[in-house]
Amino acid sequence: MAGANFLRVTCNDCGNEAVVFSRASSVISCPVCGSTLAVPKGGKADLVGSSLVETLE
Ligand SMILES: [Zn+2]
Repeated sequence: MAGANFLRVTCNDCGNEAVVFSRASSVISCPVCGSTLAVPKGGKADLVGSSLVETLE
């Protein structure tokens, strides 16, 4: 499945590290502080409250 992978991100609010699916179909919240990390947009996750650390192949 081309273009689908996992993204390691850090929460902008608390710095917690989380892994999100690049084609997430629902809102992803930080498990620690509850901030929104990513929202689905155009068939892929749009990072809104998090910063990309690395892309996992
Ligand atoms: Zn957080």
